[in-house]
Amino acid sequence: MPETPRLRFAPSPTGTLHVGSVRTALFSWLFARHHSGAFVLRIEDTDVARSRTEWTEGIQSSMRWLGLDWDEGPILQSTRFALYDEAIAKLLADGLAYESFETPEELAAMNDERRARKLPPGYAGRARDIPPEAPAALGAAGRPAVVRLRTPDDGRSTFHDEIRGDVSVEWSSIADFVIRRADGTPTFFLANALDDIDMGITHAIRGEDLIDSTHRILAVRRALGAERQLIYAHIPLILSADRAKLSKRHGAVSVEEFRDQGYLPEALINYLGLLGWAPADGREVMTLAEMAAEFDLDHVTHSAAIFDHQKLDWLNGEYLRALTPEHLEERALPVAVAAFGPDLDRDVLSSALVVAQARATTLNRMIEQMDFLFESEAEFEIAPESWEKLAGTERVDEILAGALQHLITCEWTVEGVDLRPVLNRLEIKPKKAMPALYAAIEGRHAGLPLFDSMHLLGRERACARLIAARDRLASG
Ligand code: GLU
Repeated sequence: MPETPRLRFAPSPTGTLHVGSVRTALFSWLFARHHSGAFVLRIEDTDVARSRTEWTEGIQSSMRWLGLDWDEGPILQSTRFALYDEAIAKLLADGLAYESFETPEELAAMNDERRARKLPPGYAGRARDIPPEAPAALGAAGRPAVVRLRTPDDGRSTFHDEIRGDVSVEWSSIADFVIRRADGTPTFFLANALDDIDMGITHAIRGEDLIDSTHRILAVRRALGAERQLIYAHIPLILSADRAKLSKRHGAVSVEEFRDQGYLPEALINYLGLLGWAPADGREVMTLAEMAAEFDLDHVTHSAAIFDHQKLDWLNGEYLRALTPEHLEERALPVAVAAFGPDLDRDVLSSALVVAQARATTLNRMIEQMDFLFESEAEFEIAPESWEKLAGTERVDEILAGALQHLITCEWTVEGVDLRPVLNRLEIKPKKAMPALYAAIEGRHAGLPLFDSMHLLGRERACARLIAARDRLASG
């Protein structure tokens, strides 16, 4: 690479950080780190009505949580209005842009008329040739004034995309577009193009949904006299399994939601890194540093990436299993405290975590599964569908009685509480009896391994639960 690359992540703070945006940030970060370049965080908040400080902060805390650090910024576009104003004034003075004064109703009528003539909607340049003295009069008459960039009428707009190859459209399909709104704020096209020039950005990696805007941004760059070419790479979108745009109805979509559901940042970032990119050797478990060492745009896929929640669960489980008991407890403690209160029995927690680790998917599901250990006998409840399973189990009275008898006298170790010899004696297959025993002890007919669970629960409470189940059966 001839010069040190400079990349930016340029989110608009109009909501929480979506995993699709994170992946854009991640690919830019990986590219910058791979080439020892710079990674700039720029907040595109010129649309003041839709931007909020809390979202600007949320974006930063989500990125920090994921380990995506930045070298410069955050640079807020809302602090740079003077710069944009100056540039717009120059474009106006050079005749590259002009003011236009249509009301929204007039613009709608113009679009209707174009549609009737089978032309694409868009501003046809009516105000292009208003004599220079007229705008002041129109503005004074109280009409809204926007500034539009003059686009060519003929020829094609073409740029080379690192992933998509050459992208080209007819200039005639790109109407003179607004670069300053009637309220005086610059639009995305103007601010984005100017900042990429001003910040010396060399590569823009961004979502494919923005590809149509690139022609307009390049037109602004040209009008502003940009000296260098910006290298674009538009990465395919992330879709859900039904090939729709990934949205709330498919489950978590923002970083905060994944964090709150008990995903580890290192697992989430690993998963997103391999969504649309793969290292040459096909590895699936990689740290950020390992991904940065290998990252290149040539291995970014050209088709949409499908978000696979099960695969993320598996990967998160791999990271959870790789934790030492001490680290696992450290990660799980806040979740456990939120669920069971600050006075929870830490010894029970650490033992239960080790038991749950083998089949873990998320921290939250691990903790939810162990609620029966932290509930008093008064609080403990059996889920209705699990009670039905228990009540419908053949010879359930004998199973409960046999288990109880064994637990009253056995040695209190994980091996000692093993109930399979009891079931053997009764000639009942464990598969048939186990759901009922799980239900009686854990409140669900499947969950944390039963013998470890009974062992952790202690003799008194395990027996009390079997007695409670027996009594409930007898009474009902
Ligand atoms: N601010 C734009 C967005 O959040 C991104 C612009 C860009 O990456 O060029 O969609």
